[in-house]
Amino acid sequence: MKPTLTKAKQIVPNNKSGFFISVGCPGCGGRLELQENFFVLTCPHCGSTLRITMPEIPPAYMIPARKSRREIRFTIDRHLKQENLPLTASDIQYRHIYFPYWKVDYIALKQRNKIVERHVGDQFEASSYGPVRYEQVTRQEKVVDISLTPNSLTRMAGIEQDCFPWSIGMKAEYVRVIPFSRENIDDEYECFPVLKSWPEVREDIEKSVTGQDVRNPADFGNNKTRLFRVTGSIIYQPYIISECSSGGKFRIFVSDAISGRIVYSAEDDHPFEEILPGDDPNFKFGQLGVDFHRCSVCGIDLPSVQSYVYICDNCHEMTILEQNPLLEKSLRLIQPPNRNGNDRYFPFWSMTVTSEEAQKLKRMFGGIYESDRLVVPAFKGQNYEALFRLAKRMSAAYPKFRLEQAEDALDERFLPTTVGMHEAITIAAIIITREQSRRSRNVSDDDIYFEPGKVELFYAPFRSEHYFFVDSVLGAVTFEKNMVD
Ligand SMILES: [Zn+2]
Ligand SMILES: [Zn+2]
Repeated sequence: MKPTLTKAKQIVPNNKSGFFISVGCPGCGGRLELQENFFVLTCPHCGSTLRITMPEIPPAYMIPARKSRREIRFTIDRHLKQENLPLTASDIQYRHIYFPYWKVDYIALKQRNKIVERHVGDQFEASSYGPVRYEQVTRQEKVVDISLTPNSLTRMAGIEQDCFPWSIGMKAEYVRVIPFSRENIDDEYECFPVLKSWPEVREDIEKSVTGQDVRNPADFGNNKTRLFRVTGSIIYQPYIISECSSGGKFRIFVSDAISGRIVYSAEDDHPFEEILPGDDPNFKFGQLGVDFHRCSVCGIDLPSVQSYVYICDNCHEMTILEQNPLLEKSLRLIQPPNRNGNDRYFPFWSMTVTSEEAQKLKRMFGGIYESDRLVVPAFKGQNYEALFRLAKRMSAAYPKFRLEQAEDALDERFLPTTVGMHEAITIAAIIITREQSRRSRNVSDDDIYFEPGKVELFYAPFRSEHYFFVDSVLGAVTFEKNMVD
């Protein structure tokens, strides 16, 4: 079977929906459209391999305005005509505003405790025809359901005024954003400042999401929700405010300057109070970086696959895209007993645990676990259940493996590392919590939390057998092929 690697996908998507960041290529200046969570790509104009780096503090973007005053006025007139009202007069006044929104992305980890009725068997009654079923036997069972779901939402970041929508839709339509900068703003536009800082917004969102736990009480114990990988960015949305008097009334319309849609309208006998931007607290925003995806030692292009870890083909130096003091900057490898070339190497994160935690893990995993490490797959799977199972099996098998230093470059037999270290630590925390709740049938109120000692990436060889991958050393660790994306 031919190994498949996730090649850096084409950056201009066919079905344009979602959120795209438009930036210039540092090689040729050509326009690149970045889809979120794409961090390595090839420039379609000059072929440079590029890497996107996210700033430490949230970046700010803007959606370029597409509608002119004339188009906006046309839409308003059409609306007035439908309402049998007099059309806009020559006294119409426009104001062009960029209004900020926070866009927040996160992964929600939800633990839901439910009591379910399980069918455990049937009761039979003897009769002359043989046993006849007369009753189903059920038992109430405590079930702890844990899920991870990615989510994204937008919230007003500027002054709260009725005339601006509370949030902006981003998923259904294609939205092209560009980095926010003064040069990118037309002179007629004024920018309303961001009045809510990132820590405030983050706290608000965590509160409102975890508030669900209170609104939906658990069947037993407590439901829990925690957010992971919470990232924010500012999106400036353009609006045109039109004010005019018609039929003896003052009218105000706020139109979205991308679609031209009227998002707010009102009428009054008196002129409206001015819509003021609020005092600018002058928060700082980060800039998205687009760099050449090259080895920092010899300067040769690194492979253009989406991965958190690269080994230079030329000088064999390792590049890790995630920085963390816990991370060992070495790559280890398990060699199969027979190197027949049919093995595929899968990446795993191994994390040391304290002896106290190891005792706990041993109780949870049963007698099979004799290790001071928890091992989590470093490649994305179709479902978390399969990922959890594989993590348990690999953790139990880990002491039986002999790890060597990986010397060579990662060729096509090696799968890219698509689960980052932080996500792997989260997965480890979930595994521990699930195991605990399963064993005790009684969920503790401890937080879902795990802090590893050292973290290391290693590769383990697997061979293909029918619908499964089986580890090439012990022949004991298996997982279904369809688990891999
Ligand atoms: Zn280019
Ligand atoms: Zn190099």
